[in-house]
Amino acid sequence: MAAPSTSVDTMESADDTKECSTFKDLGVIDELCLACKQLGWTSPTPIQKAAIPVALKDRDVIGLAETGSGKTGAFILPVLQALIARPQRLFCLVLTPTRELAFQIKEQFDALGKAMGVMCVLIVGGVDITQQALDLAKRPHIIVATPGRLVDHLSKTKGFNLKAVKYLVMDEADRILNMDFEVEVNTIVKELSRARRTMLFSATMTSKVNKLQRAHLNDPVKVEVSSKYQTVSKLHQSMIFIPCKHKHMYLAYILNEIGNVSVIIFCATQLSTMKTALILRNLGFTAIPLHGKMTQNKRLGALNKFKAKERSILLATDVASRGLDIPSVDYVINFDVPMHSKDYIHRVGRTARAGKSGIAITFVSQYEVEVFQRIEVLLGYKLEVYPTEKEEALVLEERIAEAERFARLEMSRLNEKSGKKGRKRLHADDTEESLGVRERIGKKKKGKK
Ligand code: AMP
Repeated sequence: MAAPSTSVDTMESADDTKECSTFKDLGVIDELCLACKQLGWTSPTPIQKAAIPVALKDRDVIGLAETGSGKTGAFILPVLQALIARPQRLFCLVLTPTRELAFQIKEQFDALGKAMGVMCVLIVGGVDITQQALDLAKRPHIIVATPGRLVDHLSKTKGFNLKAVKYLVMDEADRILNMDFEVEVNTIVKELSRARRTMLFSATMTSKVNKLQRAHLNDPVKVEVSSKYQTVSKLHQSMIFIPCKHKHMYLAYILNEIGNVSVIIFCATQLSTMKTALILRNLGFTAIPLHGKMTQNKRLGALNKFKAKERSILLATDVASRGLDIPSVDYVINFDVPMHSKDYIHRVGRTARAGKSGIAITFVSQYEVEVFQRIEVLLGYKLEVYPTEKEEALVLEERIAEAERFARLEMSRLNEKSGKKGRKRLHADDTEESLGVRERIGKKKKGKK
C-alpha cells in the first residue's frame, strides 16, 4: 500500500513544501518542543507537518486526517503557542463528538500545557452539570466540549458565554454532523466572536462538512495527509471467510494463536459484544465490553482497565471505533463486518497509530459478503486471506459450544435479575459485574481446594 501523502491545498498559496523534520523547523517554540519531547514525540507526524505551520501563520485550517495520525497535536500545539503569546482566559473551545474523545483531547492539552499552567476543563454529558458550572466559573483557558452539553451551559449557566474565545476547533467534524449536532454547532458558533481563528478536522470531507466550513471558516487553507479512504501504511489488513456459526470458534483460535497482545474486537451490537465477552471470559481470556449503553463511569473504567493492560481484549461496538486513543493496540478484529464502509476505516484506525504497525482481521460470514465487498470497493483493493488451520480451529468446537451455552444461561440469568429490579432489559454494565462475580467465585473455589 502506498505511504500516506501530504498535501497542502493552496486555496491561497501556502509555502510548506520545504522538508521540516523537527517541531522547531515547523516554528514551534522551545517550550512546546520540550513538552513534545517529554511525551516521546521526537518528530512531527505528516498532519502536524502540514497543519502546524499554516495555523501558526494565523490562518483558518481544514485538516483532513486519518485516525491515529496525530491530528490532536496538530491543533493543540498552535493553540498553546498562541495562548502563550497572548495569555487569556476562555481562549480556546474544542468541540468534539464523543465524551471519550473529549477526555483524550484534554489529556493531551494537560500533558503539553502542564509546564505553562494551562487550565483545561471538560464539558461533556453524563457527568454532574453543577460541578461543570463551577469549573466554568473559574474561567479556564481551554474548554473541551461535546456540543449538547455546551449548549445546555450556554442557556442555563449564569454569566457563561463564549464571546472571549479566540480559537475554535471542531474535531471529527464529520462525526459531529453525523450525530445530528448541526443545530447545536450553529448555536455555539453564533455565540462566538467573528474575530477568531477556526480549525476544522475531519476524517472525511462530506458535503455537510463542506457546508459547515463554508459557513464558519474564513478563507481556510486545506491540509490533507492521505487520499480519501486510505488506511495507514503500517497496517496489515486481512480477512477470513467463515460460517457464521463458527465465528466464536475462529475468534478463540486466533486469540490463542496471537498470544498475549492487546486486541480490540468490534461487534455489531451491544448484545453480541456482551455475549462474546462472556464466552471469552469463560474460555479464560481477559476480555472487557465497551459500548454506548454503559454509563460514562463504566465506559471509562473499561477503557482504563484496557489501557492499563489489566484486560488485554476490549470488545466494542462502533461507539468506540472513533476517537479513542489507546496507544498500544496490536490487533483489531472485526468480529462483525461494519454496515457502513467508512466505519471500517475508523475501526482499523485503532491500530497502527502514530507510526507503529498493526494488524486488522475481518471475519466475513455467508451473510456479510455483500457488505464486505462494498468495503473492498471503497478501499480500492482486495484484502488478503488470513491463514488459518481449519483442523486446529475445529479442535475447539466442543469447548466453544460449552462456553456459548454458559453465555446464553448467564445472559438470561441477568435478564431475569434486571427484570426483577424493574429494569426493562439486561443492562450492559451487568456483563462486567457478572464476570466480576464469576471471577470472585472462581477464586473462592480455588482458595478452598
Ligand atoms: P491522534 O491522531 O491525535 O489521536 O494521535 C494518536 C496518537 O499519536 C496519540 O497517542 C498521540 O499521543 C500520538 N502522537 C501524536 N503526535 C505524535 C508524534 N509527533 N510522535 C509520536 N506520537 C505522536
